[in-house]
Amino acid sequence: MPVTVKTFTSTNEAAAALSSDRSARYLGGGTLVMRALNEGDISISTVIRASDQAMTRIVTSGARIVLGAGVTFARILAERDLAFLHAPARSIGGPAVRNMGTVGGNLFAPVPYGDFTVAMLALDAVVSVQGGLGGREIGIEEFLQSRDRQTGVLVLAISFAKPGSADAFRYRKIARIKPKGGAVITLAAHLPVNGSRIVGARVALGSMAPTPIRARAAERALEGRPLDTSTINAAAAAAVEGTSPGDNALASAWYRREIVGVHLRRLLSGQE
Ligand SMILES: Cc1cc2nc3c(=O)[nH]c(=O)nc-3n(C[C@H](O)[C@H](O)[C@H](O)COP(=O)(O)OP(=O)(O)OC[C@H]3O[C@@H](n4cnc5c(N)ncnc54)[C@H](O)[C@@H]3O)c2cc1C
Repeated sequence: MPVTVKTFTSTNEAAAALSSDRSARYLGGGTLVMRALNEGDISISTVIRASDQAMTRIVTSGARIVLGAGVTFARILAERDLAFLHAPARSIGGPAVRNMGTVGGNLFAPVPYGDFTVAMLALDAVVSVQGGLGGREIGIEEFLQSRDRQTGVLVLAISFAKPGSADAFRYRKIARIKPKGGAVITLAAHLPVNGSRIVGARVALGSMAPTPIRARAAERALEGRPLDTSTINAAAAAAVEGTSPGDNALASAWYRREIVGVHLRRLLSGQE
C-alpha cells in the first residue's frame, strides 16, 4: 500500500494535517514508525513531518528547561547543562537509536520502552501539544493516562523545572542485556529537600503498568521525612502498591513486583 509523506514548515499546518487524517502518523526520529511501516502496518497511509526549528529547540537558560519534541537523545548527551539527564538518555538503545530517537516519540513508546518518559514523569514535566483546534499544555501524568486518545495530536515540547541539586534527581534502568537491552523496570526519583526533609517527592516507574506511572505510596512514605534508613525502607515496601506490570520476554509480572522495592531501596540509598 502506498504511503504519502507530507512535510510542513509550520507546526500549525502539521498539526492540522495530523488531526484530520486517522491514518496519518507523525514521524519523529522514526525508530518505531519506520519499523512499523517496514513490517507492513497498513493502518499508516500518511506520514507527517514538521521541519519547524522550534521542534528541535533546547532552552536551558531560565528556571524551566524546554526540550522540543524533536530533540534527540544524542543532542541531550551533548548538552553539558543537561548532565542530570545523561543517564536516562544514555540508557536508550544503542548509538543509532539515540541519534534518531526523540523525546516526543518516547512519550508514545510502548513497554518495555519509554525510559526517558519515566525521567520526565519524575520531574513533573508539562507537555505542550497542538491539536486541530489549537495548542494547550497538559501535565505529563494526565497525558500518559490518556495516551491512547492523543493520536492526532502533535507534541511540540516538554518542559520542567531544573532539579535544585545534582543529588535531587536519580535514575536507574534495570536491563538483562547491557548496554542496550529493553527495560525489566525503570525507576526515576526527584527528591527536593527543604532543610533536611523531602518536600515534593516524585517517584516514577516504567514497565510496571502499560505506561510509566507515579509510585504514589512510595512518594507518601518519603514526603516530609529525612532520607534515612527507615524512610527508605518504608518507601521500598510501598513501591509495588498501585502497579500493574505485565509479562513479556524480558521478565514476568511476578518478577517485576518482587524486584521493584529492591531497586527503589538501592536508588534512594545511592547504592550501585
Ligand atoms: C533497536 C531499538 C532499541 C530501542 N531501545 C529503547 C530503549 O532502550 N529505551 C526506550 O525508551 N526506547 C527504546 N526504543 C524505542 C524508541 O527508539 C524510543 O522510544 C524513541 O524515543 C522513539 O522516538 P522516535 O522519535 O524515534 O519515535 P517515532 O518512531 O518517530 O514515533 C513513535 C510514535 O510517537 C509518535 N510521535 C513521535 N513524535 C511525535 C510528536 N512530536 N508528536 C506526536 N506524536 C509523535 C509517532 O507518530 C509514533 O506513533 C528502541 C527502539 C529500537 C528500534
